[in-house]
Amino acid sequence: MHYDVAVIGAGMAGQVTANYLARAGNCVLMLEQNHHAGGNMSGFTRNGFYFDGGDQSFESMGVVFPVLRDLLGVGPDDFIKARYRMVSSDFDFFVDSPEQVEHELCTAFPNEPGIAPLFREVKEVSRFLSANYDPWEFPLLIRGGARNGARLAPWLPRLKKWSTFRYRERACSVIRDPALRQWFSQIGYYRMPYLFFAGFWHIWAYDYWYPRGGMQSLHDRLTAAFRAHGGEALFNTDVTRINLDSSGRRAVSVDTAGGERYHADRFVYAGDYKALVNTVLGPEVFPRRYVRRINDAALTEEIVGVYLGLSMDNDELSGYLGGAHHPFYFPNYRVIFPNASSPEDVHRTMWVALNHFGSQSPSAPKGKSTLTLQTYSSFAWQDYWKNGSASHRRSPEYREFKQRVGMELVELAEHLVPGLRDRIEFMDVGTPLSSERFSRNTNGSTGGWCYDDQVSPVWRLPSLNRIKTPVANVLCAGHYALWPGGVISAAYCGRLVARMMGALGGQGRR
Ligand SMILES: Cc1cc2nc3c(=O)[nH]c(=O)nc-3n(C[C@H](O)[C@H](O)[C@H](O)COP(=O)(O)OP(=O)(O)OC[C@H]3O[C@@H](n4cnc5c(N)ncnc54)[C@H](O)[C@@H]3O)c2cc1C
Repeated sequence: MHYDVAVIGAGMAGQVTANYLARAGNCVLMLEQNHHAGGNMSGFTRNGFYFDGGDQSFESMGVVFPVLRDLLGVGPDDFIKARYRMVSSDFDFFVDSPEQVEHELCTAFPNEPGIAPLFREVKEVSRFLSANYDPWEFPLLIRGGARNGARLAPWLPRLKKWSTFRYRERACSVIRDPALRQWFSQIGYYRMPYLFFAGFWHIWAYDYWYPRGGMQSLHDRLTAAFRAHGGEALFNTDVTRINLDSSGRRAVSVDTAGGERYHADRFVYAGDYKALVNTVLGPEVFPRRYVRRINDAALTEEIVGVYLGLSMDNDELSGYLGGAHHPFYFPNYRVIFPNASSPEDVHRTMWVALNHFGSQSPSAPKGKSTLTLQTYSSFAWQDYWKNGSASHRRSPEYREFKQRVGMELVELAEHLVPGLRDRIEFMDVGTPLSSERFSRNTNGSTGGWCYDDQVSPVWRLPSLNRIKTPVANVLCAGHYALWPGGVISAAYCGRLVARMMGALGGQGRR
């Protein structure tokens, strides 16, 4: 069988590209190494409890919803608006608007003069986002055109200023208390620029969503739509190599770990970029300096997830969480990004997110509930979580150690859910090693290249260089191809790549 296009990877990016291409009449093969689609957004069921494995909800920013509406016909009723709650020994509030967050923080820290000036500009960012983004409409930035350009123009100098971490540090320097200043200037991804820090207060309040039925059901629908357009999806199919013709300039086929070979005219790679450069296309295809830069490039932080099946019904658990879907508990205002040499008990004093959608997700057996705890972690920490190496063979020490870390996070979560440990019926811990295994993202990184504007290759290499490869008929999609990485960039990039391949405009062919 010869295909028009082979798409490698069935995360958000691969699924979006594959759907557009198949809908346009192309004969498309989608190859995924995992047993189901979703990548960092996939879910799983154990002992009757359903869990979202990685991403727990997502922003649309005028990108994800229009793409999903286009492909699946979804509407607002298909999504639940996620509610965030922030809890520390000083405050306990819902993130319902930047104004209300400011009010809560000013009440919690009456002697801190910096909060009002800090939030003056946060509210300006919120005004920018309100004026230019609607979850269900492509934003002006993408729509283009002279009129839209004119509407955006007044914001451009501020956008430039807001796009660095350095400016964030400056803006947060108005906070007098050193611990609080560090909290404001560091929470989120490591050295995340000001726009993202300020924008998140707006996005948490107005634009964070959870698909009814869970993340996996959303991805299963995308796979079903792809198949309905005649696409062929193969799971448990690990692509080890994209083969080139004798000129070395055109790709002709892919090989899989299972020994199969599939031929196609064009290829879209929507998996880990470091693997593309080092093995799948191979370093010989890229300039040597570029290979070095890609290998040196820092990635977004890794996460540890604790998946709990509880002998507690949804109402009781929701009661403890105050009805929030994502309460964050901060035992202090230190911001820690664990690394290989962090101490063994590093997670004990870190923030923890408690994620729960109750009866609104596929959830749990009757009278029971699921709760997922998450915080930042590190792939290489404590000699690869006492596994001794990154190998997929897991040692008994690794299994025991990850359970211990899981219980440390349970202990933190007990500040919101008293007696949580006594209600656990099922518990599993997903380490960054597990994330790498299931999503293939190097080190189990969550969202592509790191968000630090000084370090990320996005400023040093034009971003389109990562959609195009030196091989003309191989394009890349996904959270490495467009910075900053996330569900938005994956969905947008998936659509962009399909458009570059002529699929949006009826130019497809069978
Ligand atoms: C815990 C967590 C929380 C997150 N929170 C948010 C959030 O709040 N908001 C947000 O926007 N984003 C969030 N993200 C990030 C977001 O989920 C990802 O950026 C996005 O889903 C990436 O989609 P993708 O398709 O580019 O890549 P992936 O989801 O990584 O999918 C790549 C797919 O390709 C497959 N693959 C890779 N290599 C091969 C191969 N050689 N052969 C076959 N298949 C292969 C993988 O198995 C995988 O299924 C979060 C991620 C995690 C893990």
